[in-house]
Amino acid sequence: MTLFLLPSILLVISAVHAFQFEELAHYVDSHQEEYVEALRDWVAVESDSSDVLKRPELHRMMEMTAQKLRSMGGNVQLVDIGVQELPDGQTLALPKVVTGQFGSDPNKNTVCVYGHVDVQPAKIEDGWATEPYNLTDINGNLYGRGASDNKAPVLAWMHAVEAYQALNMELPVNVKFVVEGMEETGSNGLDAMILAQRDTFFSDVDFIIISDCGWLSRRPALTYGTRGNCYFFAEVEGPKQDLHSGVYGGTVIEPMTDLIGILDTLISPSGKILVPGIREAVAPLSDEEWRMYQDIEFDINDYKSKIGVNQLMYTNKVDLLAHRWRYPTVTIHGIEGAFSAPGSKTVIPAKVIAKFSIRQVPDMEPAVVKKQVTDYLHSVFAKRKSPNTLKVTMIIGAKPWLADTKHALYEAGRTAIKKVFDMEADLIREGGTIPIARTFQDVTGKSIIMLPIGGFDDGLHSQNEKMSRYNYIEGTKLFITYLNEVAQIKKSV
Ligand code: MN
Ligand code: MN
Repeated sequence: MTLFLLPSILLVISAVHAFQFEELAHYVDSHQEEYVEALRDWVAVESDSSDVLKRPELHRMMEMTAQKLRSMGGNVQLVDIGVQELPDGQTLALPKVVTGQFGSDPNKNTVCVYGHVDVQPAKIEDGWATEPYNLTDINGNLYGRGASDNKAPVLAWMHAVEAYQALNMELPVNVKFVVEGMEETGSNGLDAMILAQRDTFFSDVDFIIISDCGWLSRRPALTYGTRGNCYFFAEVEGPKQDLHSGVYGGTVIEPMTDLIGILDTLISPSGKILVPGIREAVAPLSDEEWRMYQDIEFDINDYKSKIGVNQLMYTNKVDLLAHRWRYPTVTIHGIEGAFSAPGSKTVIPAKVIAKFSIRQVPDMEPAVVKKQVTDYLHSVFAKRKSPNTLKVTMIIGAKPWLADTKHALYEAGRTAIKKVFDMEADLIREGGTIPIARTFQDVTGKSIIMLPIGGFDDGLHSQNEKMSRYNYIEGTKLFITYLNEVAQIKKSV
């Protein structure tokens, strides 16, 4: 009994404890039900940023986020980022961005944690096994929309700070939060907010941490790169209206045939991009990178069965990972104006618009890609000698992001993962695009790390999205430890 009383007596005597991992980890374990309840409250808010009818819920979600940080004693702001223009010309208030600050000791490093609390749409009819907005625990997995993307990671960061506070341990670094509510629809308004606060909120930030992605396997990971995205519309227009294919077929040069013809010249069946100049712009794969990919834990058969295919573009791990992360690819997403309803309709569509994107990588430049693709499609189209018109536009030009894995931020990540999980970290990239990473880098000039705690099979954006208790709770311990490791990085003045 006496032994157990000792720590609390010490707590009273010395106002501030130094970092003690065991104590913090124990605190997290004993509060895990509270953490799950907090996630349940957050998942219950249908903060779908893509649905304008859900906007009141999104505003409520931002208010709850601010309230959580206020309850922890942070300096909290709800930053107005203006309005969103709707297609019908109306405007709608954007959800405010929540910023929070814990500590302002100039002798400590300052980290800024970025996250989002908006979610993708979800309905039980989409094929969910449980109500998407009612967090449901099945065998240690917490099912709910937004559980992994990105509500649990944001809460885990808050709980990490709270644990230090509860045990009266000094935060080893100053911690800032930036939490937005428009990530799933392109972070509308956030770029301008970051730019506007570059010399204020962000001026004393040393490092930016993003936990908005997942591991590749059961091994914890650090993410050091994401691909960019150049998204195109290619529109072919012919007759002034849709035509009967029996009456007119064989006499008109059909827009759809032209469109399919030019789309087919973008990429070969073996995955080679055929647009001149694109492959040449890609940074070559170094020997060191090749070796890093060799070390990554990745099971090709698991991957195949997860996506339900029996053959992939590549048969070995390194090629597969490299083409998932560090080479560009073309995807054709759809054709607007094409007949796509069930049943048959004998129509010649008069105007069709293809939607395709190129996931782009260092050292490609969106502006250059735009010209390469536009020039190429026009030259291919010209060869068809078609009377129809072609219009190519690029509607998104999000840049890729790549960090230096030798940076102290990554060293700190490796050490923290080793400490919490007793495993070596996987150093991975993300095939998708997180444009805000590049914005943070370009605007603030600060170093960024992506420190994911989501599982490899969390089903982001999909039916039955989940976060496992294990990842949520151990992830909280990882964040706690990471803050202590980042404190050891020499402050660059
Ligand atoms: Mn996300
Ligand atoms: Mn997402």
